[in-house]
Amino acid sequence: MASLLFFEPVFKTMIWGGNRMRAAFGYDIPADNTGECWAISAHKNGDCTVAAGEYKGAKLSELWDKHRELFGDLSGDRFPLLLKVIDAKDDLSIQVHPDDDYAKVHENGSLGKTECWYILDCEPDSALVVGHNAKTREELCKLIDEHKFKELIREVPVKKGDFVQIDPGTVHAIKGGVMILETQQNSDITYRVYDYDRLQNGKPRDLHIEQSKAVIKVPGAGTAGDVMSTESVCASGTVTSTPLTAGLHNLVSCKYYTVNKLNVKGSFTLEPSGVFYMASCIEGTGSADGTPIKPGDHFIIPAGYGRLSFSGDMTLIISNPE
Ligand code: ZN
Repeated sequence: MASLLFFEPVFKTMIWGGNRMRAAFGYDIPADNTGECWAISAHKNGDCTVAAGEYKGAKLSELWDKHRELFGDLSGDRFPLLLKVIDAKDDLSIQVHPDDDYAKVHENGSLGKTECWYILDCEPDSALVVGHNAKTREELCKLIDEHKFKELIREVPVKKGDFVQIDPGTVHAIKGGVMILETQQNSDITYRVYDYDRLQNGKPRDLHIEQSKAVIKVPGAGTAGDVMSTESVCASGTVTSTPLTAGLHNLVSCKYYTVNKLNVKGSFTLEPSGVFYMASCIEGTGSADGTPIKPGDHFIIPAGYGRLSFSGDMTLIISNPE
């Protein structure tokens, strides 16, 4: 029987990055501006290495190519998902991602990018950019050309435990002070609309105005209603006034992934159903079939693993590909 797969993460320093991952998760981050931890990734820009066990030293992309049975013999030329922790000390650029159809034609066969954010931590009165206010494409292009980004973008307040799905074509930005767990399609295609006129090594980072104008959906999706408070979500994903109980709670199911929040209080048995899962401990401590688990631990539950017994008092985010 295959074992749980733990990985060595890949860290990325960014002009907007911070150092909270060190204290929050005990990560050995490379600098005080570490923006991203690619926790489970087979992408060429950050291919994670198996940390222990039978496959120790192998890259996730190699396991995908040579041991497809670990992933339920899922078809596809690349591992489908990418799991990141993002620590934003400053605002990220205002950006948008293409869908699969646009990326395939314009980005050398790359996948588009659908992503979702679970707010791990944030400062009081934090916000995210989700969506825009333009009513027509003409208005959208005019506001971009005239640099009227304050008028264009829509900001939504967020707090710890909130969850947001970001579909392709949605203008978005993570704002300073927010730390998130991101589950996304395995893609690194980002079109930057505005970067606050910042400089990196003395130069502005590239903008992608034409691509952005082409892929941004009008009218923009995204209102405060799109931010889900996971402290009050029931199993079907509908917001209710009932607080989260122990057990598995669905946050989103889309074409690419399903993401659940698991509250372990004492014990919980996960009965996997064929495909593999990615799991992240975000709070509390416990164990997974005897392996100690703490915040910041991420692992794959491979296909064929069978039932998994969690115990302890902890919260995990668990996702699986569709
Ligand atoms: Zn994004």
